[in-house]
Amino acid sequence: MDTDMPVSFDNTENAFAYKTTRELKKARFLFAMIGYPAIVRWGIRIIPWALKNRLPVTGLIRHTLFRQFVGGETLEETAQVAKKLGDYNVRVILDYGVEGGEKEETAFEHSMEKFIEVIRYAATRPNIPFISVKVTGFARVGLLEKLDSSVSDQQGPLIKRYTKALETLNDEERSEWEQVWRRMERICSVAAEKGVGVLVDAEETWIQDPVDVMTILMMEKFNMEKAVVYNTVQLYRHDRLGFLKDALEAAELRHFILGVKLVRGAYMEKERERAATMGYPSPIQPDKAATDQDFDDAIRFCIEHIHRISVIVASHNEASNLYTTRLLRQQNLPFDHPHIHFSQLYGMSDNITFNLARAGCVVSKYLPFGPIKDVAPYLMRRAQENSAIAGQTGRELRRIKKELERRSRQRI
Ligand SMILES: Cc1cc2nc3c(=O)[nH]c(=O)nc-3n(C[C@H](O)[C@H](O)[C@H](O)COP(=O)(O)OP(=O)(O)OC[C@H]3O[C@@H](n4cnc5c(N)ncnc54)[C@H](O)[C@@H]3O)c2cc1C
Repeated sequence: MDTDMPVSFDNTENAFAYKTTRELKKARFLFAMIGYPAIVRWGIRIIPWALKNRLPVTGLIRHTLFRQFVGGETLEETAQVAKKLGDYNVRVILDYGVEGGEKEETAFEHSMEKFIEVIRYAATRPNIPFISVKVTGFARVGLLEKLDSSVSDQQGPLIKRYTKALETLNDEERSEWEQVWRRMERICSVAAEKGVGVLVDAEETWIQDPVDVMTILMMEKFNMEKAVVYNTVQLYRHDRLGFLKDALEAAELRHFILGVKLVRGAYMEKERERAATMGYPSPIQPDKAATDQDFDDAIRFCIEHIHRISVIVASHNEASNLYTTRLLRQQNLPFDHPHIHFSQLYGMSDNITFNLARAGCVVSKYLPFGPIKDVAPYLMRRAQENSAIAGQTGRELRRIKKELERRSRQRI
């Protein structure tokens, strides 16, 4: 692969080669619809309510949002999508669409078994190197929140604060936490045995500390030779560049490979609202430019320490993806370096994914799957994030239209 050519994301023929014209027209319709903020606001309120009350909306969802952003209802259904992506040298991060809540222990056990099933399945496929895991899928949010708040009350480095915080749990909570730990350990050990990576999603700040601690300690156990476990770092938080540097120090000291997925962060409004309501300083950067700066600084930091960090640049931001390819060139690192991976969500920014893959980069689509009612919150987030306010819809729609026009010119 010629890595001397500058990478460009403008080629829509590459971007949409995996989609038929009929599929592209459906995508055009969908993005045009979610371009109207009023429709999205209405849908976000009505759809979850309709699903809860078993109203017949699943057909509508299946043929619109679900088809665009989700791999299928079952693992087997994802095989077709994964195969198609594989034909274009694109890999898959499988995401079992379970969301957190105040569930029963049996539901958490079921989620753990499901994550393990996904790992075993991924190990049998040629292009599924990772699965993603949400700790809230197998831990009670209330427990994470209590532990997090207690960690914040302590002084000193994170692991020390966590150890002290454990003492504040009562007997029942402590044994509940032991079960969470056991589930996480089980997932990671099967992943290590099967050679599949586990990407731990980042959550809201008020539950993130226990997730960070658990993930770092799992890395210490399973990342000695290669990265199996990855933590997610949200650079819309103003404290995360520092956190990344501390995590590297721990990795150097204890000789493990630090696995990190870099994201900007998905819960900005929620974070700011909570901070304002509860009267504490917002954990979020003052503006987008500050987030962008820290995101790119984090990429640079990871590439400069590539011997010890395995990084996944998870972003739809063209400038950040291009910046990564430029840094790789500057450092004389191959685009397919085993410690560098790019990723975008399925159904979004195909121009980045497929053009990176053609340039020889290792790139994957994050592919959720699950019953419609389980993936509904994920779909609502995608609709919201793609609504006109964010500007993303405009970009997606413009690219789809450009490709449809190119195809129709070709037919003349
Ligand atoms: C593969 C993959 C995995 C992901 N996993 C997670 C995860 O585990 N946890 C998670 O939280 N998110 C996750 N995300 C979502 C991610 O955090 C972003 O919400 C999303 O990707 C948009 O950011 P961007 O870099 O793609 O693009 P951009 O469009 O350049 O950035 C948009 C983002 O910038 C930030 N931003 C926007 N306005 C402001 C402002 N005024 N001030 C400060 N910051 C601002 C916000 O984070 C916003 O989402 C994931 C995304 C991908 C592609």
